[in-house]
Amino acid sequence: MTRVKVNPSNRDKEISRIIEISGENIYSCMQCSKCSASCPANSEMDILPHQVVRILQLGNYERIVNSQTIWNCASCFTCGARCPRDIDITKIMEAIRLTVIRNKGESRIDVDELPEKIDDKMPHQAIVSVFRKYRK
Ligand code: SF4
Ligand code: SF4
Repeated sequence: MTRVKVNPSNRDKEISRIIEISGENIYSCMQCSKCSASCPANSEMDILPHQVVRILQLGNYERIVNSQTIWNCASCFTCGARCPRDIDITKIMEAIRLTVIRNKGESRIDVDELPEKIDDKMPHQAIVSVFRKYRK
């Protein structure tokens, strides 16, 4: 097995931006996996929350941004509440999404399409959540 050393000083500008936006210290993660075990959306994720943190530590930005995990995270804050190191992965997921959207220079949802997609039963909180998650 190849051993890879985590070296915070080697991180690229995208990883630095994620750390800056989220305000979280990804290097204090000890890979206990409590976040992944408690995540209600883990069955919908191709990379589990603790793996997201590990991949960020290793500086593999491309692996993260090409995963479905960041879009399937429900921003429920459960992972942060369970983390023994007080790492709030909800904020990290949000920061990753923001970097993707900003780098693409476009939003993932078109406001003009919304009336067709909204029905009377949709809670207002869900609509606000969509804007937080998919708009620049
Ligand atoms: S619960 Fe916290 S310390 Fe444990 S793997 Fe998740 S982020 Fe890392
Ligand atoms: S905020 Fe996202 S990653 Fe964390 S427990 Fe909720 S769904 Fe899972």
